[in-house]
Amino acid sequence: MPETYDVIVIGGGAVGCMVARFLSRYRLSILLIEKEADIGMGASSANSAIIHAGYDPLPGTLKAKMNVAANLMWDTLAGELNIPFERRGDYVVAIGPKELPKLELLLEQGRRNGVPGMHIISAEEMRHREPNINPDVSGALWAPTGGICDPFAISIAAAENAVQNGVRILLETAFEDFIMDGKRIVGIKTNRGDFGCRWAVNAAGLYADVVMHKAGVRPEFKITPRRGEYCILDRAEITVNNVLFPVPSDISKGILVTATLHGNTIVGPNAQDIEDKEDRAVTYDGLGELWDGAHKLVPSLSPRHVIAVFAGLRASGNAPCETPGVDYNHDFIIEIPREVQGLVNLGGIESPGLTSAPAIALRVIELLKEAGEKLEEKPDWQPIRPPRPRFRDLPHEEQKRLIALDPRYGRIVCRCEMVTEGEIVAEIHAPIPARTYDAIKRRTWLGTGRCLGSFDMPRVVDILAQELGVSPLAITKKGPGSEFLVRPTKQVEG
Ligand SMILES: Cc1cc2nc3c(=O)[nH]c(=O)nc-3n(C[C@H](O)[C@H](O)[C@H](O)COP(=O)(O)OP(=O)(O)OC[C@H]3O[C@@H](n4cnc5c(N)ncnc54)[C@H](O)[C@@H]3O)c2cc1C
Repeated sequence: MPETYDVIVIGGGAVGCMVARFLSRYRLSILLIEKEADIGMGASSANSAIIHAGYDPLPGTLKAKMNVAANLMWDTLAGELNIPFERRGDYVVAIGPKELPKLELLLEQGRRNGVPGMHIISAEEMRHREPNINPDVSGALWAPTGGICDPFAISIAAAENAVQNGVRILLETAFEDFIMDGKRIVGIKTNRGDFGCRWAVNAAGLYADVVMHKAGVRPEFKITPRRGEYCILDRAEITVNNVLFPVPSDISKGILVTATLHGNTIVGPNAQDIEDKEDRAVTYDGLGELWDGAHKLVPSLSPRHVIAVFAGLRASGNAPCETPGVDYNHDFIIEIPREVQGLVNLGGIESPGLTSAPAIALRVIELLKEAGEKLEEKPDWQPIRPPRPRFRDLPHEEQKRLIALDPRYGRIVCRCEMVTEGEIVAEIHAPIPARTYDAIKRRTWLGTGRCLGSFDMPRVVDILAQELGVSPLAITKKGPGSEFLVRPTKQVEG
């Protein structure tokens, strides 16, 4: 008899981790499995980091409902989980007279979706608010409820809080198939053996189509990876203060220029449909497209200040919206399908999926209740994830106190981002232990500055090896196959 849980969540991105976190409020045994070496390594860590206001999705779609409902949740949630988040608002910027009418359409759409506080500002006002904006600006839509966040922190914080509340998380554990008893799911097969369950939640992102097809659900549903490339600019080159969207196209919100919470400017993403679900390559042509888009909004931006590039893959699905009269074929799937028992099926969770993740989690709970699941709240559920000290943000006196308690907080390992050995060690021993270089990077922002880790990397490998009690040869960048070192210095081959 395999180890059995009430609920198994397949996939540890923002959605799976939020589902696990919100479900951990109830008396349920929960397992979350993630195929990678850390949680949040998929789309949830390679995106624009915007908490969308909700004017972009078509009224009546699940995307619109989830986006607007979730947007309201972010202040409380970010507070409870200690996720960096700022509600700075955002702009859709019209360039030239032809784009201006599109702002009216978006404003109307946003109002129908229930987005509060939006209005259109004049070109003059926009130039005043964002001095580097293209002088041909003709007006802008202002949405005060838009926000920016630390996308890495979302999955990590939600998963840690889930663990605090009794959820078990298994990394490097890949779903392979369902175990069925007739039409009922009774468990899953993984590369680490079988696990029993009463409910399985499909939160596998790009692979959600593969997972649902294993249960015989929606054979016509297909996820096409839609790649979006980005450039990150050096922090010394602050060119914008806000989130600036162009007027959107039919398939994407367009190439935006935005400030990040860490003080950098980012440019991107473009949108290319590709076949390979693992192809996160950044291309020469793609970068050209980014700069055309960026210069349309902010002509003075210079590619000379790029310090890093990356790409993320949207899990773009082909699910029709189920609201009568809404003609849209890329909606979220959030359902308990009729064909099988025991599956909560989430699919096509492309943008605004990061924003929507907490509302999707609440919808999952509603669906389980509607299916007759008696969800009993735990009296001792703990919604707060305790923060760990972030040395660079502390007042001087606090820094001194911390160093006196643990001298490792006095040793700076990453000079650009001022991350200390103490913080690295704390992450290695956190509720979800950071066991790779990238896992530490996502939690502390080490290695994200101008030197991109050249100075800190050898030290981090050393600290990881020491704390995990393994050879430095075993330390990886992001899991098996990405080891930094191949053999000890001067070791003779053969
Ligand atoms: C370029 C780009 C820009 C975006 N910008 C924004 C934005 O600004 N704001 C916003 O709200 N949204 C944005 N999004 C969308 C958002 O990032 C996603 O909707 C969201 O992160 C989806 O979360 P997820 O958990 O469903 O998917 P993922 O984060 O991809 O997580 C799915 C997880 O499932 C795991 N998995 C897959 N198969 C298996 C298996 N067989 N066994 C075990 N685990 C498995 C994967 O490894 C992965 O970790 C953007 C997306 C992209 C790509």
